Amino acid sequence: MKINENFLKIESSYLFSTVAKKQREYQAAHPDKEVIRLSIGDVTKPLVPAVIEAMHKAVDEMANEESFRGYPPEYGYDFILDAIQKNDYADRGIDIAKDEIFLSDGAKSDCGNIGDIFSVDNKVAICDPVYPVYLDTNIMAGRSGDKGDNGLYENIIYMPCTAENGFMPELPKEKADVIYLCFPNNPIGVTASKEQLKVWVDYALENNSLILFDSAYEAFITDDSPKSIYEIEGAKKCAIELRSFSKTAGFTGVRCGYTVVPKELVFDGTSLNPLWARRQATKFNGVSYVTQRAAEAIYSEEGKKQTKEVIAYYQRNAKVIFDGLTEAGFTCYGAKNSPYVWLSVPEGMTSWEFFDDLLEKCQVVGTPGSGFGPSGEGYLRLTAFGNYEKTIEAVDRIKSVYGKQFKIGGFVK
Ligand SMILES: *Cc1c(COP(=O)(O)O)cnc(C)c1O
Repeated sequence: MKINENFLKIESSYLFSTVAKKQREYQAAHPDKEVIRLSIGDVTKPLVPAVIEAMHKAVDEMANEESFRGYPPEYGYDFILDAIQKNDYADRGIDIAKDEIFLSDGAKSDCGNIGDIFSVDNKVAICDPVYPVYLDTNIMAGRSGDKGDNGLYENIIYMPCTAENGFMPELPKEKADVIYLCFPNNPIGVTASKEQLKVWVDYALENNSLILFDSAYEAFITDDSPKSIYEIEGAKKCAIELRSFSKTAGFTGVRCGYTVVPKELVFDGTSLNPLWARRQATKFNGVSYVTQRAAEAIYSEEGKKQTKEVIAYYQRNAKVIFDGLTEAGFTCYGAKNSPYVWLSVPEGMTSWEFFDDLLEKCQVVGTPGSGFGPSGEGYLRLTAFGNYEKTIEAVDRIKSVYGKQFKIGGFVK
């Protein structure tokens, strides 16, 4: 028996565990201080009443022989696929067929599993910094080489997203076969305009590339930026879209999302839609009935109204962080269309040094940007998923400590 040696190439993800460890150690050494976590990458508000009601009802159905349900259809019940098709696509003028939508237990699984349907020989392009799942799943699949001394994996195309390029990746110089894009993105919190996305769709069509578009944060979009890549002409011929109810409706613990694989996606003369259908039917047995009824409730009138209110709560937090830190003298990005604020750390500090400084002086926990990729060095991510009053308190502490230091001629370490 031989193991999959690709697993040995993956650096054990120490980012979130190190953040948690440092917080624990600080708290143990200073039991009297209240630490506020602006590092949470998970929702904190409960499921909305419409969802809870639907779940209770579905549970009761499971208790009766007449209404009991066994294995669900592999790709989702008609009631949820209809709701998705209507609300997320048809109502926005996008023509997606029901059998192009595949319900799943979330976007993370689909992000990792989708690689089953394409060759190990494809060259993959990812943004830097980025959600770590895109890179790690491709390392496991054998699409990368080893990690080089520069901290980058061989055979992976990294597309730096920095202040200089407005955090928008530039088209790769060498040909990318599979391109991961996420807008609004994690960790930076910026989104792409229609024009910016069109550049990628045009590139993919011209180069016979596949775009994997992660729109986990579309509910946070406040302007007219695209919520789906299929708003761009030609995208159905080159893009798969990954969607999740985790951040849009607080489903991180319930687990539900979906992936759209249009039938027009044809590579090597083969349509990807039946490949993904076959993959899912073979390795996945569907989403639980109760969960599907919960997801359906998000699309009811009440459900829409209630989830919007929760998103608005997080958006208010994002604004508090963005405005407060900007006032304190920091250069901030994101927030507008996202639950994330991405800020430049004071000059002369690394992401981790500023993380420590912030914990020490303000008892506020962030996430070092360098943990999301080499181009994240010099930045820190703060999230809006916390409690409103605590968020205000955290921002006040930051303003009172760093505000003065910025004012007296640059930052004083
Ligand atoms: C949170 C998140 C998801 C959602 O994953 P689920 O498995 O659906 O919970 C997907 N993509 C990105 C970039 C995320 O940050």
